Amino acid sequence: MRSAFLPFSIPCLGEEEIAEVTDSLRSGWITTGPKVKRFEEAFKAYVDARFAVPLSSATAGLHLSFLGLKLQPGDEVITTPMTFAATVAMIVQAGGCPVLADIEPGSLNLSVAEVEKRITPRTRAIVPVHFAGQPCDLDPIISLAQQHGLRVIEDAAHAVGTEYRGRRIGSFPTVSVFSFHPIKNITTGEGGMVCTDDEEFAEELSLMKFHGMNREAWKRYEASGTPNYDIVLPGFKYNMMDLQAALGIHQLRKLDDFITKRTDLAAFYNRELAGLDAVITPGAVIYPHRHAWHLYTPLIKVEQLTIDRDRFMAELKSRNIGSGLHFKAVHHHPWYRDYFKLPTGFLPVADYASDRILSLPLFPTMTRADAADVVAAVSDIITAFRR
Ligand SMILES: *Cc1c(COP(=O)(O)O)cnc(C)c1O
Repeated sequence: MRSAFLPFSIPCLGEEEIAEVTDSLRSGWITTGPKVKRFEEAFKAYVDARFAVPLSSATAGLHLSFLGLKLQPGDEVITTPMTFAATVAMIVQAGGCPVLADIEPGSLNLSVAEVEKRITPRTRAIVPVHFAGQPCDLDPIISLAQQHGLRVIEDAAHAVGTEYRGRRIGSFPTVSVFSFHPIKNITTGEGGMVCTDDEEFAEELSLMKFHGMNREAWKRYEASGTPNYDIVLPGFKYNMMDLQAALGIHQLRKLDDFITKRTDLAAFYNRELAGLDAVITPGAVIYPHRHAWHLYTPLIKVEQLTIDRDRFMAELKSRNIGSGLHFKAVHHHPWYRDYFKLPTGFLPVADYASDRILSLPLFPTMTRADAADVVAAVSDIITAFRR
């Protein structure tokens, strides 16, 4: 057994990030300013987006994007149950009715056929989540949306660096919302970015993110600026700080290398776990793509064991292996269970995954030896608790 605990995720921050933050601290300008602008430009170029709006989190990005839909009471937004609660919570907070469509077995991404079945005259938008960093099938989702006059808002929290048919997530004719939370592929501490090809949408988001103010504060305090401003709509306080962007500027440069390392570890897991019949390794989509491997999420066939998934995670922990839960399906959480009141068996694929999924350790500075320890622990637990 391992002597030191292996966490499920650790952010990879180096001397470059530390120096850049120190530079901001010494400069006298720590909130939204030139570094946020630099990060915005670099991110926009990396994903090949027309417009990018830096924010305090992906949750803020989802909130503003859904508010941008100007939902009327009863308006529906279709999304996946296999996501973090923020996706669905922000639909509710923007005044919409979330509608859950089932997922594909294998990739655990939103099923396009299931989305189509859920479209009604009240549907306004489709919200795919690129689960674990593997892209949803965007072409049929976008054409379905065009056919019915709907918007596509991608929850791209897992998808920084993900590619679909040769193009990066963020470059499609949609709105895409990225996260830089510490467990995501790159981090700014907390932070998010919304990318879109829609200039009007991007401008409205920019206003909403900072009090509805018609010019950015840091420009007002520049020598050439004027301290006056106008409030043109009631906005929020969702701006990203220079302290956060200082991390992002350097994290973004390291992203491709991070993804290469994650991909190598995921391939090792796939190979080593394939021999265990109580484990279903993550399924790959068949269209051309680059998986960003934000998470490595096998399913444990608990029906073959005498313990459930939660106990399996506790057993991993007792063997000094951390794990994560991404995700317990949204409709299994108390508030949403009461809200949706779905009949049992309504979302069978999500229900199956929800009771069996866990996230194994995966981060760029992890070694193959660490991954081998994880595989040994998984195998040991299966042997110990086989039915
Ligand atoms: C992390 C995550 C979010 C929220 O991101 P924050 O930046 O923490 O607000 C939203 N959706 C999904 C699928 C996530 O994994």
